[in-house]
Amino acid sequence: LISPFHGGHLEVIVGPMFSGKSEELIRRVTRSLIAKQNVLVFKPALDDRYHASAVASHAGRSVQALAVRGVADIRAHLSGEDRLLGAEPGVQRPPLPDVVGIDEVQFFDAEVVTLALELADAGVRVILAGLDLDFRAEPFGPMPQLLARAESVEKLTAICTVCGAPATRSQRLIGGQPARYDDAVVLVGAQESYEARCRVHHAVLE
Ligand code: ADP
Repeated sequence: LISPFHGGHLEVIVGPMFSGKSEELIRRVTRSLIAKQNVLVFKPALDDRYHASAVASHAGRSVQALAVRGVADIRAHLSGEDRLLGAEPGVQRPPLPDVVGIDEVQFFDAEVVTLALELADAGVRVILAGLDLDFRAEPFGPMPQLLARAESVEKLTAICTVCGAPATRSQRLIGGQPARYDDAVVLVGAQESYEARCRVHHAVLE
């Protein structure tokens, strides 16, 4: 068995930036592809387009993925609506894939929880990877619900860029300085960067 679970279930991979979440998602998806399973991988589109793309790890490995604007796009793709638009009535809907993967799942709204549970109930192996915490070390969007409802949770660590200890947090830097708690999660045009940090070396300005 590729996965120890029988039938549909939910697997969640979390950790800070650079902890290898994408690598682990790619590893699991690649094994399913080797087993000739039907796999679909999604990720949020950074721009406003719904397009073919890939999930790539910082170390350079990748798998094909579809970049989507939200859960509605995932539903449209799974039901075939996006391709059947204008097709003859009665055209077959595609069967559900064996495996559905989503990377950067923290960026989706709460609907992603409903979708993940529906798919798992329908027999799909659902593999989700995302940040458990935002730069303030607060739980990120839908992650608490997903973590609580998953059959399997893998919490990865990165390496703290200050001391080399296991890093559980993502340090946000703006112009080289720790970001403020109130800084917008998405800053347009700012000189910002992120580093993996341990609890001791993670800083958020008041
Ligand atoms: P994530 O999806 O969690 O952001 P990736 O799978 O994209 O992580 O990348 C993980 C890879 O990033 C590691 O295997 C390593 O090669 C590289 N890396 C760069 N900086 C760090 C760091 N501070 N700690 C651990 N790995 C790092």
